[in-house]
Amino acid sequence: MAGQERWLLERSDLQQLLDALRAAGYQTVGPVARDGAIVYDALERVEELPAGWTDRQDGGSYRLERRDDQALFGYAVGPHSWKRFLHPPRLKLWRAERTGAGFRVEPAGDEAPRYAFFGVRACELHAIAIQDRVLLGDRFPDPVYRARRDAAFIVALNCSVAGRTCFCASMNTGPRAASGFDLALTEILDLRNHFFVVEIGTERGAQVLAGVARRAASAAELAAADEVVARTAASMGRELQADGLPGLLLRNLEHPRWDEVAARCLSCGNCTMVCPTCFCTSVEDLTDLSGDSAERVRRWDSCFTMEFSHLHGGSVRASAKSRYRQWMTHKLATWVEQFGSSGCVGCGRCITWCPVGIDLTEEALAIRQSDGVKKGKDHGRA
Ligand code: SF4
Ligand code: SF4
Repeated sequence: MAGQERWLLERSDLQQLLDALRAAGYQTVGPVARDGAIVYDALERVEELPAGWTDRQDGGSYRLERRDDQALFGYAVGPHSWKRFLHPPRLKLWRAERTGAGFRVEPAGDEAPRYAFFGVRACELHAIAIQDRVLLGDRFPDPVYRARRDAAFIVALNCSVAGRTCFCASMNTGPRAASGFDLALTEILDLRNHFFVVEIGTERGAQVLAGVARRAASAAELAAADEVVARTAASMGRELQADGLPGLLLRNLEHPRWDEVAARCLSCGNCTMVCPTCFCTSVEDLTDLSGDSAERVRRWDSCFTMEFSHLHGGSVRASAKSRYRQWMTHKLATWVEQFGSSGCVGCGRCITWCPVGIDLTEEALAIRQSDGVKKGKDHGRA
């Protein structure tokens, strides 16, 4: 395999990479500007990328703004993540048709799409690895996820911009894509040059790149790419102090801070919908008015709904406090016991897209600080 080879691809030749992926049978998907946000959708032409746009993000706010250059990837992550393609928000499981006195069941059985994801950030690669562990790494692997995941080609992107809600550097999940990609790009743009340094991650990546115009990158060009990532790492908008966090949260389950956050939380579930690692689903049975056909559908669910924890007699987590506490302690504490890693990759989406700007880094810090005050020192149970 081509190992750590890095090449230089001119901006004017980037279309060749999209073309090579499509010629190899992939549906190319990447960032496009739509409805005031940068989302992931079909991407066939370089001109469809949000050239010259950036995003201004903060707790509860997101705006697109013009940059003073034509960078193609000059923004952080938006409301979509790649889970909408690997673990779709709504999926038909089967359909039944009445046939006289009986009925016939037809499994959905659609062929898995072969996606090439274009511009996958380092935090998102970690999120995909977490979903791999959850959806494939146990006794009952999800066949839909399996088929889509096996077919997917990943073009990663080393971030050149950190959003004000990003904190991947403190989670050790970015901004450099370290593994889990077929190819990885770094965009370099100055007054005279606009090019990409391309790193090959797999043999499959090398094969696709073989059909694209490129040249060996010079030491100075490689250094420029490293500088882009170093600058991004140094400009993170937020930080989460992760050491001892599981123990900290689990020994503070009755901390008064949960009441304060509950007074603001709307239980809307936005944080779970935008989170690239949240994986919970529910199933619904739907029938048409004639009663001649029915289908079973799987859809994303959220631990912020009352129904999510409904058992006989009512919801186990009836208060907003218990639901927010469940979500945050699962992400940052019990996920570690369950799956061997944090459930958070520091992408910041739950902070940006929370309508009231609830920020899990702020909540964790508040508990850490008052835990210290209360006990005089941090006992650091992990
Ligand atoms: S919990 Fe928030 S910051 Fe962490 S991965 Fe999910 S959306 Fe991103
Ligand atoms: S934390 Fe924010 S996004 Fe999540 S349920 Fe509460 S109000 Fe909605």
